[in-house]
Amino acid sequence: MKNPGQDKPRLSIVEEVPEELLGILLVDSDNTDSLQLRRALEACRPARVGYAPDAETAERKMASQLWDLVAVDPVLPGGFKLLRQIKETHRWLATLVVTGNQSPQFLRQAVKCRIDGLLFKPVAPAEFVEQALLLAKAVYARRRRQQKRVLAIGAHPDDVEIGCGGSLAKHHAKGDLVSILTLSRGAAGGDVNVRTAEAQRAAALLGAALHFGDLRDAHITDGVETIEIIQAAIRELRPTHVYTHCAEDTHQDHRAVHAATLVAARGVPNVYCYQTPSSTVEFHPNRFVDITEYIKQKLELIGAYQSQVDRMESLQDDVILTTARYWGRYAGYVLAEPMRIVRQRDGDMTPDSGKQQSARSVSAAAG
Ligand SMILES: [Zn+2]
Repeated sequence: MKNPGQDKPRLSIVEEVPEELLGILLVDSDNTDSLQLRRALEACRPARVGYAPDAETAERKMASQLWDLVAVDPVLPGGFKLLRQIKETHRWLATLVVTGNQSPQFLRQAVKCRIDGLLFKPVAPAEFVEQALLLAKAVYARRRRQQKRVLAIGAHPDDVEIGCGGSLAKHHAKGDLVSILTLSRGAAGGDVNVRTAEAQRAAALLGAALHFGDLRDAHITDGVETIEIIQAAIRELRPTHVYTHCAEDTHQDHRAVHAATLVAARGVPNVYCYQTPSSTVEFHPNRFVDITEYIKQKLELIGAYQSQVDRMESLQDDVILTTARYWGRYAGYVLAEPMRIVRQRDGDMTPDSGKQQSARSVSAAAG
């Protein structure tokens, strides 16, 4: 006898078991329609379910929380605009259209929004749940493989923006998670309250989370105190990519942060050193990040540090621009940020624990 479930698509298409709940957001102006589907989803252990009755609420929820799938009935006002926006601004988010409208024109519009799935109302809750979980799991797995977690470390407010502001803007634009750790508040170079506020403004422009180490400016060492602060950030943020100062720098704080980072980030697969205005001619970059599209944003980030721009020749727009132009000569004449690679791992960004697990399994099998 044929098993009735035999022809159904298998949910185990993605083998990875999610560590977090899958985020599924339902956007439907018809509360009655969606209630049944929501209840069916809520009964699923791996799902965290949200509901928005209109496009505006949906946008707010998407901005404040991470989702894997948005299921939309685009008959609601702004429904197609919402679907288009999702694809433009949320790299890993899947879209599922659940609608009663089957007109060819309506469906053509849906396809133009690059939707990932389509179901027609009335839809059986079990069918909806199966389709929604399938799409959400695939997105979750892709995000885990591709999304980078970036930590940029600097001794003082503005170091990171000068050294790798364009690279960080590029990471953010690609959907990576960006954090900044600034080890002092820069008391030696101005008012700490002003400098803290400037750093917060720059981080907000970048869409980055900002952390302060609160070490004493000009007295930062490469000892255990600095290493522990960086290690704590690495434990919390689990970065796949770390950017830090280079060793070839006349500022003692910069050299100390470089050395402390190398110790603290020894388990991070990708570590790069950036240039600052106090770097020496001994700085020999071997990676050139094309920041042509992000130079405007880099100038804005540096412009957030008005107290420093007012007193530092090195922070003037023309110096930043010509520096990027100069380094671009080694990389096909783009505008570039130079990096010295400490280490760079080829391959996807699957978190370390899973990798270690599979590496162990392979070696066990080989042994
Ligand atoms: Zn500095």
